[in-house]
Order: sequence, then C-alpha cells, then structure tokens
Amino acid sequence: MTEPLAGRHALVTGGGRGIGAAIARQLLSLGASVTITGRDAARLRAAAAEMGERAFGIAMDVTDPAAIEAGFAEAAKRFGPIAILVNNAGIAKAAPFGKTDLTMWDDILRTDLTGAFLCAKAAVPGMLAVGWGRVVNVASTAGLTGLAYCTAYCAAKHGLIGLTRALARELALKPVTVNAVCPGYTETDIVETTLDNIVAKTGRPREDALADLVAQNPQKRLIKPQEVAEAVGWLCLPGSASITGQSIAVAGGELM
Ligand code: NDP
Repeated sequence: MTEPLAGRHALVTGGGRGIGAAIARQLLSLGASVTITGRDAARLRAAAAEMGERAFGIAMDVTDPAAIEAGFAEAAKRFGPIAILVNNAGIAKAAPFGKTDLTMWDDILRTDLTGAFLCAKAAVPGMLAVGWGRVVNVASTAGLTGLAYCTAYCAAKHGLIGLTRALARELALKPVTVNAVCPGYTETDIVETTLDNIVAKTGRPREDALADLVAQNPQKRLIKPQEVAEAVGWLCLPGSASITGQSIAVAGGELM
C-alpha cells in the first residue's frame, strides 16, 4: 500500500521548519493529512502552502494551554480527529550548571516536556474515541544519557522519555502506541545556534566546534532531518502496532 496513512490526521508541533517539517512531509508522503504548528504564523502559512493541500498551519505556542485547546479544535475542524501526534516542538539551550537559572530551566521544561504533556492530553482522548492512535515524542540522545552544560535540556528530554514509557504502559491494552525518537546532532537551526554559542563563548573556530559535535557520532557526521522523519513515519505505520514505549536513537551509533 503506497499511502498506508491515508485518511489519518497527524498534528506535528514545531512542523514549520527543521526536523518537524521533514516529519510533516514524510507523513504527507505516507498519505496522512497534516497540521503543522509553531509560534511563527507567517512561516507556518508558507510551509503549509509549499507542502500542499493536505497540509494546514496553525499558530500554537505549546507553553500556552489555552492556545493548545484552541489549536487542536481548529485542526480537528479542518481535517477531523487527530490520530497521530508528533511532539516535536523544542528548544535547546546550553549553560554551565552555575549559570543555569530558574528562568532557563522553566523555559526548557515548559516547552520540551510540559508542552508534550499538554498536547498528549489534548490528543489521546480523540485517539481512544476513534480506536486508533500514534504518539511520537521527539526526544534526543540527551534523553538517554547526560551531557555536560545541558542539565535543563537533559532533564526535560529524560522526562519526555519517562512520559513516553509510562503512557505507553497505561495505554498498552488500547490501540494507541506511544514512542520516542532520540536524534543525535541533526542539521537544523538548533545546531547552527549551538555552534554560534560555542564560538561566542570560547572564541574557537567554527570548524573546530563542528568537528567536536560530529565526533560524538561514530559515523562522523550530523544526522539529516529526513532520517529522523523516516523513523517517525515507520512508528506511525499500521504494522508498527507492537512497538510501544520505545526510545529509538537516530544517532549513527552514538548510544548502544
Ligand atoms: P528547530 O529550532 O529547527 O525547530 C524547533 C521547532 O520547535 C520550530 O518549528 C519552532 O517553531 C518550534 N517551537 C519552539 N518553541 C515552541 C513553542 N513554545 N511553541 C510551539 N513551537 C515551538 O530545531 P530542530 O528541528 O532541530 O528540533 C526539533 C526537535 O528535535 C526539538 O524537540 C529538539 O530538541 C529535538 N532534537 C534536535 C536535535 C538537533 O541536533 N537538531 C538533536 C536532538 C533532538 P516556531 O519557531 O515557529 O515556534
């Protein structure tokens, strides 16, 4: 079957750029209708227009519970009940522990962890009502191991994996699976910003900073957004029904 997700409605948070946009395109190629969300309404409109008539963009800040409620209602009006939720929206900030203040901690936890919790709360009842669903959380290798200078980000992504595992167990007797994908360093704005920060803080040449990130991947390269999207697409297939509660590293062997 060339379009195994035909008739399914997927919502991808942070779907206007980076990994989220690749996931949205992948789900479209598998036949789903896709709502992409984020904070930048103009970017979302342009991205959805470029993706085609089965794509729709909605401005929805995942740190705002009222915006999530309104966004999910608008999405359901456009393409019907949401069968696939991809919690991809996220921010990454690095700082030594001594400089990680409560504001930074709260920003990261609210976006990367609480945002996913709120979106799952909004989506799962509809999946149970229609009798089919997939939740895929875009975590990180930082959700599976500790990284220096990333206490808040690691805590948020470890939390997201905890949410994934607990919800998967709770829904195991229902036709809804819950999984996480854990990318290593991937070619998106997040890595560009990380490199800018390393250069600004250390004065090191950009190529050296990039070489350090690449060295963490045994394949000695950055991951491509499409590679993460392929893993997410596979988890959403009807045939992946037995895969639940998993946290799959897409990281060239960085973690084993
Ligand atoms: P980008 O910075 O390219 O994209 C981040 C996306 O999240 C944007 O679409 C942005 O949309 C959205 N977003 C951020 N904050 C909010 C918010 N408060 N409400 C709604 N949307 C928000 O990064 P990536 O594509 O790289 O990151 C996607 C996910 O992958 C993140 O969860 C990240 O942690 C994870 N990841 C990335 C890795 C990497 O190396 N790139 C490695 C491991 C994991 P907008 O600006 O419109 O709000």
